[in-house]
Amino acid sequence: MGTPEAESPVFLCQQCGECCQGKGGILPTPVEIELMAHFLKIPGAHFRRDYLEQTPLGPAVKNKPGGGCIFNEQGRCRIHPVKPRICRDWPFLPAILLHENEFEASKEACPGLNPDSRHEDFLKWWQEKIS
Ligand code: SF4
Ligand code: SF4
Repeated sequence: MGTPEAESPVFLCQQCGECCQGKGGILPTPVEIELMAHFLKIPGAHFRRDYLEQTPLGPAVKNKPGGGCIFNEQGRCRIHPVKPRICRDWPFLPAILLHENEFEASKEACPGLNPDSRHEDFLKWWQEKIS
């Protein structure tokens, strides 16, 4: 789930939890895996067994049996302070920043993105945010 942002014509997180539905694949780095295990106070091996699954791209955070990220609890992230970078960065992911069609598709998935905003607005807002 994205972090709430200051009011913006381009993006304002609505806390809907849609980006935690596990559709895109959360692929944590080894350091992120250790951080999550430490946060949950369990050994790394136990974390890997209980919360990760192998994919062709590497270990990914499991989904719940009914769907959605295993750490999503009624719209709240159980590991929020140590959630993987992809979760913290959404919707400012490289593919969305680079490709207008990805941006348009993301507007369908994320109600925090202003449907009237253009890709160039999104890029401009991001550049101002990181400068
Ligand atoms: S889908 Fe968008 S609006 Fe909903 S929680 Fe995620 S970032 Fe926020
Ligand atoms: S780790 Fe947290 S923020 Fe990331 S998809 Fe799962 S519930 Fe959402």
